[in-house]
Amino acid sequence: MSLDDASIRLAEVREKIARAARIAGREPADVELIAISKMHDVAAIRPLLDAGQRVFGENRVQEAVAKWPELRETTSGIALHLVGQLQSNKAEEAVTLFDAIHSVDRSSLVEALARAMDKAGKRPPCFVQVNIGDEPQKGGCAVADLPVLLAEARAADLPVAGLMCVPPLELEPAPYFALLAKLARDHGITGLSMGMSSDHETAVTIGATHVRVGTALFGARA
Ligand SMILES: *Cc1c(COP(=O)(O)O)cnc(C)c1O
Repeated sequence: MSLDDASIRLAEVREKIARAARIAGREPADVELIAISKMHDVAAIRPLLDAGQRVFGENRVQEAVAKWPELRETTSGIALHLVGQLQSNKAEEAVTLFDAIHSVDRSSLVEALARAMDKAGKRPPCFVQVNIGDEPQKGGCAVADLPVLLAEARAADLPVAGLMCVPPLELEPAPYFALLAKLARDHGITGLSMGMSSDHETAVTIGATHVRVGTALFGARA
């Protein structure tokens, strides 16, 4: 991808987000665009950095460790979000590398992250991932388990910045986004990490504060 392509794609996505925000009477600046760079190498990421994007997301700790230290050496102001499932034994590495973690989904991980944050002296904002469509194969805590998990996260002093979801693939996403927004309201949580390439405009009209966009920025993954 050339710098021109990257600039055009970035401008298009930002414009869509801005339009959706205005429709909903929201400020476009209140929506953070996270460029999901998983499975794209350093060479594919650089044009987007050169085009001005600074907030990125990865779904695997090992892959992020292999790519981002190098990019951070040459570009300042990068914020890195973890959007994929996290094993407890990688919590320390994740806390060291990432500026936000979107996949807190169980008690054991809450404990591991709290210990890792104490050790690192750093408390990156966390999103609790909800299995909003109650799908057996998907990450995220069950809707019914959310109150207890949130209480545990707060008791462990995790900075809970929001809720995160990935709605069922083949279904209209709006009702699931609306449910996540309601759960957040019920628990006094302001952040909503929802919306991907195909549905981020819908998510923004329903209140997304963080959209996670990969394909629309980078093209298809191999
Ligand atoms: C890959 C991924 C995305 C981005 O998906 P696209 O459809 O490529 O925009 C967003 N969120 C999560 C959790 C992902 O794993």
